[in-house]
Amino acid sequence: MTKLNKLLQYCNENERKRFIKKIKFPYTKNKKISMKKCWIWNGNISKKVPIFWFNGTTTTAARAVYQMTCNKKPNICYHTCGNYKCVNPNHIKNGTKSESIHNAIKLGKYFNTDGTFKHSILTRDQLILIHKLVDTGLKCIDISKKLNIKYHLIHNVLYNNCNGHIDLKKSGK
Ligand SMILES: [Zn+2]
Repeated sequence: MTKLNKLLQYCNENERKRFIKKIKFPYTKNKKISMKKCWIWNGNISKKVPIFWFNGTTTTAARAVYQMTCNKKPNICYHTCGNYKCVNPNHIKNGTKSESIHNAIKLGKYFNTDGTFKHSILTRDQLILIHKLVDTGLKCIDISKKLNIKYHLIHNVLYNNCNGHIDLKKSGK
């Protein structure tokens, strides 16, 4: 347990104990807690996301464990293992929305099998087309008319911290 205490050092003992109790730890052959495998959350879940009462508020377990190990509030927490039930701090990264999207693409969790984005009602082909058209100098409103897609969607794709940062050429097919 001392190794865990050292890892989860930026919280009080009570919080640490409560947190640890809610994890199904994987073990190594030497019967030590594995730092490499996913630590599966066994506590409360809200909308498929593990949640935890921490610092006087309900937050996601991933954000809580990040704060316990790094002593700062994360921007966007994402899982490099792709397992949303995992709270192994070694699998949780802090970054930007676009980094989290890149991570999801890398893990194959961003596109649905039919080519649509998991978090967008636009298809992959539409997104690629939007990027191509803006490169030719068209404005959002022109692209909106041309493709018959709502203006705000085009704007979101191109200028919001959302799908607009994805390098579609690099994200693979
Ligand atoms: Zn994991």
